[in-house]
Amino acid sequence: MTTYHVEPVDDLIEHDTSGQEDCVCGPRSRPEKTDDGSVNWIVVHNSLDGRELSEEAR
Ligand SMILES: [Zn+2]
Repeated sequence: MTTYHVEPVDDLIEHDTSGQEDCVCGPRSRPEKTDDGSVNWIVVHNSLDGRELSEEAR
């Protein structure tokens, strides 16, 4: 099983991509079946910098 991490680009924090759901942003993981029948684990990270808000504030 392979774990893939999806994280926000240029986020303010370092995302911990060493484990599953082991990051401060509280990522959510889900299994994703590939064409050859194996299962990959997708860990989706959340942006912590409040991107939309900070862009408003600038
Ligand atoms: Zn993260």
